[in-house]
Amino acid sequence: MKAYRPTHVAIDLDALRHNYHVLRETMRPDWRMLAVVKADAYGHGAVPVARTLEEAGADLFGVAIVEEGLELRAAGITRPILMLGGPWPGQEPVVIEHDLHVAVFEIEQLQRLEHAARQAGKSCFCHLKIDSGMGRLGVRDEQLDEVLRFFLASEALQLVGIMTHFALADCPDHPLTAQQQAHFKRALAKVRDAGLIPEYIHSSNSAATFSDVNGGCNLVRPGIALYGGQPFEDRTLPLEPVMALRTEIAHLKQLPTGSGVSYGHRFIAQRPTLIAAIPVGYADGYNRLLSNCGTALVRGQKVAVAGTVCMDWTLLDVTDVANVQCGDRVTLLGCDGDECVLAEQWAEKVGTISYEVFCQISKRVPRHYQP
Ligand SMILES: *Cc1c(COP(=O)(O)O)cnc(C)c1O
Repeated sequence: MKAYRPTHVAIDLDALRHNYHVLRETMRPDWRMLAVVKADAYGHGAVPVARTLEEAGADLFGVAIVEEGLELRAAGITRPILMLGGPWPGQEPVVIEHDLHVAVFEIEQLQRLEHAARQAGKSCFCHLKIDSGMGRLGVRDEQLDEVLRFFLASEALQLVGIMTHFALADCPDHPLTAQQQAHFKRALAKVRDAGLIPEYIHSSNSAATFSDVNGGCNLVRPGIALYGGQPFEDRTLPLEPVMALRTEIAHLKQLPTGSGVSYGHRFIAQRPTLIAAIPVGYADGYNRLLSNCGTALVRGQKVAVAGTVCMDWTLLDVTDVANVQCGDRVTLLGCDGDECVLAEQWAEKVGTISYEVFCQISKRVPRHYQP
């Protein structure tokens, strides 16, 4: 749809390529990369992101749900696509039809996939998910033998991968990661002892890819780092933000001292104040918790959100910005000149992580791609 409102997300595909290469440089040359593009590539747009990364050399793609895999297939992405969350009952035929790889961790899943694959006369490509301590999805030790027997007996199910997921990869020195690694290695040994030879062995998200815990694996699964999110608290990796959220000043008004601003009058002008209204609100993903505490950039200068963030509007105190005018560009996320609002800074203010900041920018905001 044509956009009539200046509010938009700018996606810097060069920054995406840069981050891809930063990851490649930390990876051993024989490792492959599964680029995680679930949740519409963390809000960046799955299809343009996957096309860019396919061209850059990403080997596989990771999605959370069937619909996301189908979207990539419909866009012509031909590399393997892994459904990280596994298939739910009823999804098996479509998974098999479109050659989606699936994470599996229950006998019942295997039975349903086996049935659907036989009916389709095709193979189903499975990555066995081991719960090594995340406590979310995955096979526990007690069930491993039964699962392996199923694979050994099945012709339609191909065990092409084995995987696990770390719970504390962003704290590299935490002992849990080493425990999970050891657990995963034991499971892998068991799989091999049973005579199964998975091609892809993987455990590492972005943080783990940068922390030397990928030993014994041959594939990494970064997501956030591709988008320029910093996986560690110290924020020192040379990653570039990919997403910017921008709009323009729609309306300016001078208010006298003592005036209240926005719902609840949670901002009271302490001086003669120039207020800018910008057409962005919580319906766009500009979190209401940024009321009276968000930061935006106008003419390369940091300004503060004044009062409550509304559904479609946010007010900024632009009193200190010289020559400010209607139509001036406003940056709510990303950089303008030397100043930046980082997703991590935004996230800290609303008590979340950069991932959620990216994912929350809503569908109402059109994405513009800079090649
Ligand atoms: C989302 C996800 C990833 C990517 O994690 P990042 O922290 O964004 O790098 C990797 N593996 C699995 C199983 C995931 O669900």
